[in-house]
Amino acid sequence: MPDALSPNLQFLKGSETVAISNETKRRRAAGEDVIDLSVGEPDFDTPPLIAQAGIQAIQKGMTRYPANIGIPELRAAMARRLSLLSGGRPVNADNIVISSGSKQSIFNACFSLFGPKDKVLIPGPAWVSYPQIVHLCRAEPVLVPGDVEWGLKVSVKDLERSGDRLVRGLIICSPCNPTGAVYTAAEIRAIAEWARKNEVWIIADEIYRPIHYGNGPAPSFLDLPDELLERTVLIYGASKAYAMTGWRIGGALAPSHLAKAMAAMQSHTTTGANHPAQWAAATAFGDDRVEQDVQRMVAAFRKRRDLVVARFRAEAPGVEYVDPHGAFYFFFRVDGVDNPEVKGGAAFCEQLMKREGVALVPGAAFGDDRWVRMSYAVSDKELDSALDRILRFINALSGSRAA
Ligand code: PMP
Repeated sequence: MPDALSPNLQFLKGSETVAISNETKRRRAAGEDVIDLSVGEPDFDTPPLIAQAGIQAIQKGMTRYPANIGIPELRAAMARRLSLLSGGRPVNADNIVISSGSKQSIFNACFSLFGPKDKVLIPGPAWVSYPQIVHLCRAEPVLVPGDVEWGLKVSVKDLERSGDRLVRGLIICSPCNPTGAVYTAAEIRAIAEWARKNEVWIIADEIYRPIHYGNGPAPSFLDLPDELLERTVLIYGASKAYAMTGWRIGGALAPSHLAKAMAAMQSHTTTGANHPAQWAAATAFGDDRVEQDVQRMVAAFRKRRDLVVARFRAEAPGVEYVDPHGAFYFFFRVDGVDNPEVKGGAAFCEQLMKREGVALVPGAAFGDDRWVRMSYAVSDKELDSALDRILRFINALSGSRAA
């Protein structure tokens, strides 16, 4: 079969979240009244200081190939930011590789570490791209279901139960997309100790770290001592907390041999991340005035989180949800809504779109269709209207079941 695709793509599926978002855009373009709560993207514009830095970089001619590992100014700014987020602990900029979004950082790390016969544990429900990236490395993703009683987080016991000697990696996300759960410092330490004992690599995706509703930034693997981080790759990025999704800048902090491998790999794939965008991100991570913008956006997300939780409690008290402590997602359970028409997340989302014009993401996209993910990174007005519609829909379903 000359036109068959390579076995590299044997398990490949396009991103469900991107597909839903495209469908929503299509409906909107056709004049339908649709509110999109499916996408994981802040509704804010990039803060002006950051945007200006990007514009100035272009005007100053920073438009040629960048250093493939990332410009030194950005690597230094990211090292300093990670250090400040973790109470001033030393962070070596030489161990940072800048990429075209943290998605590429995760891909680089996985592709450099995992291959055929390796298993990679992924606490589930999990962000859509982790299993796909592991498949692209020809390794095997193993979803480890989180505990419903515990915000769908996993414990060391869960990891031990799912693991065997073929496990080489663990991809863990906190604050978590899709659940909004946040691992505590003690939970992170226990997982790091388990990983060290079992010689398992940890990819710690902390892209949502500044978006945390507790005190200060969310607890991090970087808060741990060096000896627990020998097999850890820390992922950070500009997209979420700095409202820079379109600039495509992310980064990985990794042990030096791995950082070198990832940079070499990247030199043959993308050459390096967009050069002027790297200057913008250097301002995002490096200019302390930007912190005010970050805090302003986090405060807005917190207000919306409070609104979503309060309205679900008051207007749909039977619906179970994960307590959201970070990121900008609300993850609620729809199997309890139990209506003959709407058995799981996929049917719930389909009917909700049809009847009320609101786009959410079915839990199936994240590995568990008993749930549905709603992003509240939209304007207050849109959120209010979307909540009216979702709660009306849920109550109509329960009402029709009782009838
Ligand atoms: N990790 C998680 C958990 C995400 O939700 C996303 C974006 N949806 C990414 C990584 C990738 O972000 P980016 O490539 O824009 O840095």
